[in-house]
Amino acid sequence: MTTTALGDATVSELRETLRGTAIVPGDADYDAARAVWNGMHDKRPAIIVRCAGTADVINAVRFARSQGLTVAVRGGGHSIPGFSTVDDGIVIDLSPMKGVRVDPVARTARAEGGVTWHDFDHETQAFGLAVTGGLISTTGIAGFTLGGGLGHLARTHGLTCDNLIGADVVTADGNLEHASAEENPDLFWALRGGGGNFGIVTSFEYQLHPHGPMVYGGPIFYAGDKTEELLALYQDWSASRPREVNSLVALTTAPPLPFLPQDVHGKPIAIVAGCYGGPMEDGEQHYKALKEFGPPIADLLGPMPYVALQSLLDPLWGPGIANYFRSGFFSRLGPDVTATVRSFLDRRPAGVVSEFHVHHMGGAVDEVPAEVSAYSGRGAPYVWNILTRWANPADADENITWARDLGAALEPFSTGQSYVNFIGDAERVRSAYPPATYARLADVKRRYDPENVFHLNQNVVPAEDHA
Ligand SMILES: Cc1cc2nc3c(=O)[nH]c(=O)nc-3n(C[C@H](O)[C@H](O)[C@H](O)COP(=O)(O)OP(=O)(O)OC[C@H]3O[C@@H](n4cnc5c(N)ncnc54)[C@H](O)[C@@H]3O)c2cc1C
Repeated sequence: MTTTALGDATVSELRETLRGTAIVPGDADYDAARAVWNGMHDKRPAIIVRCAGTADVINAVRFARSQGLTVAVRGGGHSIPGFSTVDDGIVIDLSPMKGVRVDPVARTARAEGGVTWHDFDHETQAFGLAVTGGLISTTGIAGFTLGGGLGHLARTHGLTCDNLIGADVVTADGNLEHASAEENPDLFWALRGGGGNFGIVTSFEYQLHPHGPMVYGGPIFYAGDKTEELLALYQDWSASRPREVNSLVALTTAPPLPFLPQDVHGKPIAIVAGCYGGPMEDGEQHYKALKEFGPPIADLLGPMPYVALQSLLDPLWGPGIANYFRSGFFSRLGPDVTATVRSFLDRRPAGVVSEFHVHHMGGAVDEVPAEVSAYSGRGAPYVWNILTRWANPADADENITWARDLGAALEPFSTGQSYVNFIGDAERVRSAYPPATYARLADVKRRYDPENVFHLNQNVVPAEDHA
């Protein structure tokens, strides 16, 4: 029996306008349909529209507005602050929209808003092509691209949003706009880093690059007591790398994976992971210093299929567990930075895992002029990200406080900006943009969504209309 506040007749009318489905409380698939990746967010929408195509998205937006429903938009459902679900509102869920069309001659791909990196890489790797994508393949391309997009190929080919060449967008009034360098260039600028503020993107068009199917990449695992030495080496080594050399460091505890000896499971470890953006056979020479750093616990850095690298860590980042992330951009590394991080890692909160990542930036990311897109993290040599996961709700406060305190302790070494896609607290959105960029975003928002219909995101408040 349906318990929706919308009324059966209203829901039936909507269903007649859809090729996809509309799910309401009481339906057998309601609980599965309302679940999002971050288990911290357990919301009960009034209705979930699982869209089969752009027409469904348009009809869902018009329906939402006619009913005065709060709108949540879902692509891959991996929002850390839980923006892709809502209590008592409508979830416009694009996850059934999985089409990907690759043009191997032009080296472009057009992908629908529900595509994940697993789907995308599967299609593009058939042609040995790729774009910068996520480190966990279950993440959606939609939220990921709109916030910027950091991945293994960023130094070589730029952020994901730097490779966006066009987008179809359903705006707040239920119309469809195309955004590209030529059409609606202001909207196109905002979509590349401004998040989901400006409308619902039903398809993304990307420039692709030759990469794979076999690449030189993967992680090397070192014991946690090597952290200081490894980070010192990493600082010098990374600073002198060409743009083809992509890498990151993760300080964590050893997961129970079969290639890690049982006696290290649960103990602190330091991982350095790479992905060479040039020809596979040239990769090894560039990572030599990391390979020769010392006896590793395990060394998987070498030739491997790109799709294997992209999904290597998926089993550790499954859905349903509570998560909190906090991020920033380092202006530098150094022994004081390492000591600060180490002091927090030595008193991890209770929970599933608490870890710290450093992503090497620069290269192609910094070659894009700042004014070309709304993304605002260019010029910083490293991104840092604190990730903490817990299964017992009683551990939430301890985990969140630990991550916030570590974030605050890193401010002296940071640029003061945040990366929107890693922000765990919605109120930090202003820290993602310099004031002039935020003002320009607010102006674009005023033109495309003056009533802030799309506010469940890293929200940019529409500028006041002085016309
Ligand atoms: C396990 C994990 C790994 C991650 N790894 C990386 C990484 O390697 N690099 C990186 O840069 N980031 C990474 N992220 C962060 C990720 O980029 C963001 O969480 C991103 O928002 C996820 O997009 P989504 O479509 O899956 O999420 P959703 O929850 O569906 O959406 C996120 C936001 O985008 C909006 N949105 C979704 N679809 C659309 C659409 N079609 N049109 C308009 N707005 C839309 C939503 O309303 C919401 O505000 C990771 C996150 C997780 C949880």
